Amino acid sequence: MTEPIETLLYIDGAAAAASDGKSYGIFNPARPGELVGRAAAGTPDDVDRAVKAAHAAFPAWASLGYEERGALLRKVAAAITQDMAEVDARARLFTREHGKILRETHLEISRLGERFIQSANYAERLARDEVIRAAPNDTIITRQPRGVAALVVPWNWPLAILGAKLPQALMAGNTVVVKPSANSALAPTLTLHRIAELLPPGVVNILTGSASRIGDAIIGHPLVRYVNFTGSVDVGRHVMTVAARNITPVTLELGGNDAGLVLHDADLSGDAFHRLYRAAFMSTGQICYALKRLYVHRSRFEQVVEGLRAVVDAQVIGDGLLPETTMGPMNNAKQLKVVTDMIAQARAKGQNVIELGQVPDPALYAQGYFQRPTLVIDADPSLCVVREEQFGPILPILPFDTEEQALALANDDQFGLASSVWSADIDRAVALARRIEAGYSFINAHGPSAQDGNGPFGGFKKSGIGRNFGYEGLIQFQGYHSITAAPGTIA
Ligand code: NAP
Ligand code: MG
Repeated sequence: MTEPIETLLYIDGAAAAASDGKSYGIFNPARPGELVGRAAAGTPDDVDRAVKAAHAAFPAWASLGYEERGALLRKVAAAITQDMAEVDARARLFTREHGKILRETHLEISRLGERFIQSANYAERLARDEVIRAAPNDTIITRQPRGVAALVVPWNWPLAILGAKLPQALMAGNTVVVKPSANSALAPTLTLHRIAELLPPGVVNILTGSASRIGDAIIGHPLVRYVNFTGSVDVGRHVMTVAARNITPVTLELGGNDAGLVLHDADLSGDAFHRLYRAAFMSTGQICYALKRLYVHRSRFEQVVEGLRAVVDAQVIGDGLLPETTMGPMNNAKQLKVVTDMIAQARAKGQNVIELGQVPDPALYAQGYFQRPTLVIDADPSLCVVREEQFGPILPILPFDTEEQALALANDDQFGLASSVWSADIDRAVALARRIEAGYSFINAHGPSAQDGNGPFGGFKKSGIGRNFGYEGLIQFQGYHSITAAPGTIA
């Protein structure tokens, strides 16, 4: 049994315990009795120190050129990804505190590194100002960093999601305070320490602890100039309210209830069912842009149900550290209950609910936050699992007759995060995707394994405000600044 580890805050260039010395335990979701480690439980005093340190570090950091900041970002990418022994130890810790399988925790670490490099690659484009030489004046349209950015990440993909905010915030010239989720703080915090140590004091500050203790103190701090939040709709709404006190701008990446549309001509050969499986069940379904409602043309319905059922049933559910495991436990009891309640509701309504997958260690399954991957066949459209975000390993499959009907079903939802269209005719698929109310659409795939980080990502409707990723996401960490002078006077 591995010894529990202890992680600290990081403020103004130094690791620190919480001001009152408190910490809290994080337990293994596969064995909830096993303490994986303890994280510092930051206080509002710690928040104030961290934000002030970030504020003090801002002018010098902002005054560096993009190339200089980009070079530091490349150094960070190398430091967090190149020592394979360290990466492996980090991934194992991450699996133990989170539940997800080792392959995915490795993937998160490499994604974070890639995103530092991707952000550094925007240096030249960021440095280019637009100059308009037309009546009545000459005007330079430049941008400037916002100041201290507060970055809040959820537990489900804490490092990859950090990769959508942290390198971009830094590249844009901001200094940051980062709050990882209380549910998965250890590996993210160790990784963040590694990053912070490579940068000038105060540029990256790390605050762990429960949101009820420090959340509002961060978001409502008068020296925080921008908030980039990823999490649930309810907390996002609250964050927006607190930020409104200081008119602090927010980017909110919230929930999703992504529809996938399998058209009559979909190519379901090769690894298509594996792609569909990963779309819905990767990370035990705990992905904001997982496939959450699958609509299938009636002519292909049986084929899709049988094909998907076979792939789902072959999955091995267990401890994410074991090489044979393909699906780990859910992260926490609260999210598990959301899913088991949805299953109970569907069963109570006489729905065809099938729980699949192989469970080699039933004693472990009974102990941890496990849920077998589940399909709800020909689901009643009024079920919670169709109408709400499940954020777990359960997928409803529903038939449709015409593309117009499929489109209406996809768009009849409170969310508008991602979506997918599955068709052998890419033009037809793209034309349909253009009409879906979503910030991101995939063709013949869905989810993190198919995402292109060059494209801005985010949602319509209750899925949020603003975008992360790509150049468009990066410049949300800046504000426009127009400088105008008499015609013909600007060089
Ligand atoms: P959550 O409960 O909303 O928490 C998200 C983060 O906000 C956590 O770090 C949480 O800290 C923190 N927080 C809570 N109250 C706060 C406050 N008053 N001020 C500042 N921060 C506060 O969400 P979750 O359960 O971790 O994540 C699941 C949800 O996130 C799902 O709805 C999912 O769809 C969404 N999500 C969206 C995206 C996207 O890109 N659109 C990506 C991933 C997940 P504690 O952990 O300490 O409570
Ligand atoms: Mg749903």
